[in-house]
Amino acid sequence: MSNPMQHTFLSRSASIFAVISGVTITLALLMAWHLVARTTQETVIASAEAANLATTQIFASEVWHEIAPLLAPPDASVTEIRANPKLPDIDKRVRLFIRNTDIVKVKIFDLKGLTVYSSEIKQIGDDKSKTTGFISAKKGKAVSELTFRATFKSFDGEVFDRNLVSSYVPVNQAGRLEGIAEIYTDRTREIAETETQLQELQRQVIPIFLLLLVVLLISFRHSDQMRSKHEKSLVVLAHENRNARLAAEQSNTTKSQFLATMSHEIRTPMNGVIGMAQLLMDTPLNNEQREFVRNITVSGEALLAIINDILDLSKIEAGRMDFEVAPFSMSSTLDAVTSLLTPRVKEKGIRLEVQVDEGLGGYYLGDGLRVRQVLLNLVGNAVKFTENGTVTVHISETSKGPHFDVKDTGAGISADGLARLFSSFSQVDASTTRRFGGTGLGLAISKKLVEGMGGAIGVDSIEGEGSRFWFDLPLQGTVGPSAGVVSLQEDAGAGQPSDESTTPKKSESAPAHILLAEDHAVNQKLAMALLARLGYTVDLAENGTAAVAAAAAQPYSLILMDMQMPEMDGLEATRQIRAQAGPNQSTYIIALTANAMQSDKDACNAAGMNDFLSKPFNRESLAQCIAKGLAHTEK
Ligand code: ADP
Repeated sequence: MSNPMQHTFLSRSASIFAVISGVTITLALLMAWHLVARTTQETVIASAEAANLATTQIFASEVWHEIAPLLAPPDASVTEIRANPKLPDIDKRVRLFIRNTDIVKVKIFDLKGLTVYSSEIKQIGDDKSKTTGFISAKKGKAVSELTFRATFKSFDGEVFDRNLVSSYVPVNQAGRLEGIAEIYTDRTREIAETETQLQELQRQVIPIFLLLLVVLLISFRHSDQMRSKHEKSLVVLAHENRNARLAAEQSNTTKSQFLATMSHEIRTPMNGVIGMAQLLMDTPLNNEQREFVRNITVSGEALLAIINDILDLSKIEAGRMDFEVAPFSMSSTLDAVTSLLTPRVKEKGIRLEVQVDEGLGGYYLGDGLRVRQVLLNLVGNAVKFTENGTVTVHISETSKGPHFDVKDTGAGISADGLARLFSSFSQVDASTTRRFGGTGLGLAISKKLVEGMGGAIGVDSIEGEGSRFWFDLPLQGTVGPSAGVVSLQEDAGAGQPSDESTTPKKSESAPAHILLAEDHAVNQKLAMALLARLGYTVDLAENGTAAVAAAAAQPYSLILMDMQMPEMDGLEATRQIRAQAGPNQSTYIIALTANAMQSDKDACNAAGMNDFLSKPFNRESLAQCIAKGLAHTEK
């Protein structure tokens, strides 16, 4: 995603790049221009020099022999040179020679550098021995230069604004240097023509250059606009994405909250329904009435299982499923699954075989409850969909951890059905619901749980022959937990069987005296009846304030504390009991709640509660939970 700083930096670097490109192109053009102008100038000088050399050679071969005798003798003084009476003759001869050429001035020097002749008379006798042109020509090498003269004395009198090439040229006779001639050639016309040509070129090149520059700038601007447009749309997209994500998160949160509320609202009356049905079962009933009550219990439990499944799936989808990492016993996990299913297996007349590879019965580090949930779902399905034959559970060890294999000789699944398996609310065919019940959520939850624990799940099946479901978990073997550790997370949950004995334990000396804090009238009656049947004496507090007052008045063996109560909730009541220096400051407190979310368990833990029992609970789970608390207190 782009941010404004990045955007400014990018557009600034694009502008800098555009300016650098413009400057580079301009410089390159100026350099090329300079090169062309210099080359042209050098060409003019070279051609003038070549012409001067040729002229001088002709001068040396044709005229020199006439002029040389007229020049002052080599040892003549400046005065004698100037007074040379032959000078007009020399001048005449020279003027004859230069006629019809572009030579505008001629000078002749003797080998000492004295001007022995000049078409400009007043220069005769001047000493030029120190000039570089003379020195070079004396060594045999002609030198030329281009100079601009505002006024100049030519053969034809004074001329103005001239571009002149002057060349010092050695005059050789029979291989011997006899003098130096300086010849001025007028190149004004050529230079003017070249300049005209250069200007013409300029006229043609500058528009092209400007066009190039404009195209460059336009393309830069265009790409800059495109980029900024692109960036803006990215920003808009990112904004929309963020909003969509926030909306999705919001709706997920709302969904989770809704589910938590719904679950609480359904669980509270369900606690009454199932609990009362169980109490009813213990009263004298005829067979028909017993069957009705059994149906109420079974239906209630089925409804509860569905609520639990939906809650689980929502928690996983909302990313709220936390996995425990604690030692759990593999053999206990397996025993829990088989003992739960054994009545159904017997009822159906099929066999359940369990094979555990050697060394696998020990402890593993992970979420034992979730492993049990997945295994229970797969084995439960296998039992549910097998009418004849055997369900085989095989646990083996791989290099990555335990491998679970659940094979059955049941109905099998069609290829089409296999493709839909593991997705929510998917049953292979609609008649399944009618024949076997179920919501089509078990496998979807199992897949998410297994993957959440870092494992993989899969299935092979042949319709009519049977299925093989498997899952792998990357769990490490470990030693068992130290005895006597009590933690909220060990809570087996409502209606779940436990490895521990469910026989209620009573204190040997006196019956345990329990404080029950519960506001719901039906649940009060239910809990009181269950506790009385378990042999405990009970005091009732109708809200948190009453519970705190009761706890301050006398010691209790254990406190059962509902979480949601009017006036003062269970969390606050627990905090106050823990804070006051009363007789129940360290009494074992069990939270009773229809809220089944992890966050509720965490809140109970933080308030100072010792355990958590989610509603609806049955007699076994209540008995087991109380027994655990009392055992803990006795230690
Ligand atoms: P539920 O069992 O609650 O309907 P599941 O997600 O556990 O939901 O299973 C989805 C569907 O997959 C079942 O309804 C059934 O059609 C099919 N299925 C699962 N396990 C088996 C099995 N062992 N044998 C045959 N069909 C199975």
